[in-house]
Amino acid sequence: MKNEVRAVVIGGGVVGASVLYHLTKAGWKDVQLIERGELTCGSTWHAAGGMHTVNGDPNVAKLQQYTINLYKEIERISGQSCGMHLTGGIMLAGTRERLDWLKMAKARGRYLGMELEIISVEEAARLFPLMNKEHFVGALYDPIEGHVDPYGVTHAYAKAAQLGGAEVVRHTRVTDLKPRADGSWDVITDHGNVHAEHVVNAGGLWAREVGRMVGLELPILAMEHQYLITEDIPALKGEKKEQLHCIDFEGEIYTRQERGGMLLGTYERNGVPWSPRETPWDFTQSLLPNDLERIAQSLEVGFEHFPALGEAGIRKVVNGPFTFAPDGNPLVGPIRGLRNFWVACGVMAGFSQGGGVGLALAHWMVDGDPGADIWGMDVARYGDWATLAYTNAKVRENYSRRFRIRFPNEELSAARPLRTTPIYERLQDQHAVFGDYCGLEHALWFAPSAAEANEAVTFHRSNAHGHVGAECQAVRESVGLIEISNYGKFDVTGAGCEEWLSHVMANRVPKVGRIALTPMLNERGKLIGDFTMARVAHDRVFLVCTYAAEDYYRRWFERHPAPAGVSVRPCAMQYAGLSVAGPRSRALLQSLTHEDLSTAAFPFLTFRQMDVGMIPALVGRISFTGDLGYEIWVTSEYQRALYDLLSGAGAEYGLKLFGGRALNAMRLEKSFGTWAREYRPIYGPYEAGLGRFVDLKKETFVGRAAALEEKASGGALRLLTFTVEARDADPSGDEPIWYDGRVIGWVTSGGYGHSVQRSLALGYVPKEFAGEKSGFEIEILGERCRATPQAAAVFDPDGSRMRA
Ligand SMILES: Cc1cc2nc3c(=O)[nH]c(=O)nc-3n(C[C@H](O)[C@H](O)[C@H](O)COP(=O)(O)OP(=O)(O)OC[C@H]3O[C@@H](n4cnc5c(N)ncnc54)[C@H](O)[C@@H]3O)c2cc1C
Repeated sequence: MKNEVRAVVIGGGVVGASVLYHLTKAGWKDVQLIERGELTCGSTWHAAGGMHTVNGDPNVAKLQQYTINLYKEIERISGQSCGMHLTGGIMLAGTRERLDWLKMAKARGRYLGMELEIISVEEAARLFPLMNKEHFVGALYDPIEGHVDPYGVTHAYAKAAQLGGAEVVRHTRVTDLKPRADGSWDVITDHGNVHAEHVVNAGGLWAREVGRMVGLELPILAMEHQYLITEDIPALKGEKKEQLHCIDFEGEIYTRQERGGMLLGTYERNGVPWSPRETPWDFTQSLLPNDLERIAQSLEVGFEHFPALGEAGIRKVVNGPFTFAPDGNPLVGPIRGLRNFWVACGVMAGFSQGGGVGLALAHWMVDGDPGADIWGMDVARYGDWATLAYTNAKVRENYSRRFRIRFPNEELSAARPLRTTPIYERLQDQHAVFGDYCGLEHALWFAPSAAEANEAVTFHRSNAHGHVGAECQAVRESVGLIEISNYGKFDVTGAGCEEWLSHVMANRVPKVGRIALTPMLNERGKLIGDFTMARVAHDRVFLVCTYAAEDYYRRWFERHPAPAGVSVRPCAMQYAGLSVAGPRSRALLQSLTHEDLSTAAFPFLTFRQMDVGMIPALVGRISFTGDLGYEIWVTSEYQRALYDLLSGAGAEYGLKLFGGRALNAMRLEKSFGTWAREYRPIYGPYEAGLGRFVDLKKETFVGRAAALEEKASGGALRLLTFTVEARDADPSGDEPIWYDGRVIGWVTSGGYGHSVQRSLALGYVPKEFAGEKSGFEIEILGERCRATPQAAAVFDPDGSRMRA
């Protein structure tokens, strides 16, 4: 075993082996994998090896596509077979809603180049004769599905990596990790120590234990998972073609051929976590006792839907654990506060995702950037709030819903309510329907009565539609009040704050008392954040941003550290917020403060400390509704008093509460983009229409050279706003944009603009199409609806209302 290497990968499951291979491929030869037993001895060896490309997040779907296409490459390099069976697959729908969902999945797959096809029950039965047609209404066919041999895949990665210079060390357990002052690590093992510049935690079932070695509690939980293999099925005898991989959503089961029989696995509703706090070190190449009783209900449905499986005997049952993050997506990337420490864990579908995870992480380590949009699996999406117990509740929920539909308007109920603001009960009293955002409750809309405070889940406009419309109308016609505590916030203080912000942000830092919007770019000139910078004082800037990305930003700020004397303090939960918006918002707020709020004294984009009633507040003249409006920030202990004050005084002005749904509708009417939708690290600021917030007059800032290039070339894409001739289902994001009969782009957000009474979508198209006035269609639930690009925002295009 070498004792000095560039990187140590801890864990020889499919994920660690893939990371090792991709590191060598990216040019790091001096890398080592340390495995405590044999390769695959964690959760990998007993996997069913199924693989597919469909995923709710198109960016993760892309990495799944990459993984499946990689197997031929590693077979060729290593000479080791991956045991690939590319049978193709069908997903069966038993209800109309499920068929709608499959149509949506097919539409989303279009712009990724996926050849998915909606087929009739008859066609499905022709392709997969084992099914009983009676139970289904249609299906989705995907030619790129099948299964691989877990042992073969893992060894092919490892061998290919070894041929690229890597070392694979078996039967050696990492027992501790000690950081050195220069950011490198001493990797302590039971067979001697290794000094490594970088460490990767690919510990799978033991990723939590490896994390704890460095003081990290990863939000991961293992669940027990069972599949069975039947005896040989007579109907398959003599069949030349292998049976398709099949998912039956109603039965919550998946099935595929295994020699002469079928393998059938299930994600049961009452899933059982395994070793919720600690994974025993002696669980090596082990399985758990079978518990067929627990999956009996699913089996019953399965045998009804696929009678030949029920008639065959059971040859073998496998019950094994594998890990999940709360949302079911992997946890990948560098960890804030730990130099050169990386994770690649929580990978619940190692044979669909392992390749993409390895690729992204290796690029991140070698080039400083994952090279793809992997926000959906970035470990930074979870903050300290994702405790073990929270993880336990969410993972169980996610496991039980593995094959259930998630509707665009659906909120999940596990681990709630967890985080609430001081006015939570006040909003409850007003019949708020809440959503969950990073564990924090926030009002989505307000029902007229407690009995109506429920939203039916649907792909179409819901029972909330009219109520949201009334909230928008109140804002546009008089004044609305919304809680905005769920925004991210940073307090940047110290004499050098302007200099530092000027370096990390693309726009100029505003003068004292003013607000500036700014993109944050990476070195490649791509969007990694959008911020509101409010200059409170010469030595203080209050930043407002997306709360979900707080850890992501903090990690970035560590890479570009503030100089001594400048403090960058995340304070999202210390500052609660309320916003009033609409033509009468000024009069309302003016009635509560002695500050002069006239346009001359307090114009658009002004920011000031002021008292509102007795409450010390930070007030900015800005609103995401795009109307005249104010954001009011107070330390949390004042929020309830502020709410009572505003609501009391508001009665006279026709004040109405509004929620996140109305805010989203109104920002679409104004063509305002938002992080993780319109603004992501695959788009540049000029493509996203944020060029006016990039100050190229500044001599230096992160991403300037690339931004300059993008400005000169115009980039490749354009963000457009469309009105859509939709019927009763609005776009919600990820729908394909068609032009002249072919897919050319994708929707990033969509909804219904109540003030303009039109269905709206924001989306990217190649810039060559940006000047076209017609010929576009947006596909909603399988139906192509005419879409018309808009030259300007559909509401108040010249911005006179927000500047009023
Ligand atoms: C019954 C079952 C069926 C499944 N079916 C499928 C399927 O059809 N398709 C699919 O894609 N996925 C499937 N999975 C999931 C799949 O198994 C996982 O996604 C995959 O195994 C995760 O791989 P990993 O490398 O992250 O973890 P692991 O396989 O657990 O690997 C982690 C490795 O790290 C080693 N390690 C940990 N700590 C240390 C240490 N301190 N020192 C040295 N070594 C250490 C362990 O020994 C282990 O070998 C299934 C899982 C189960 C249980």
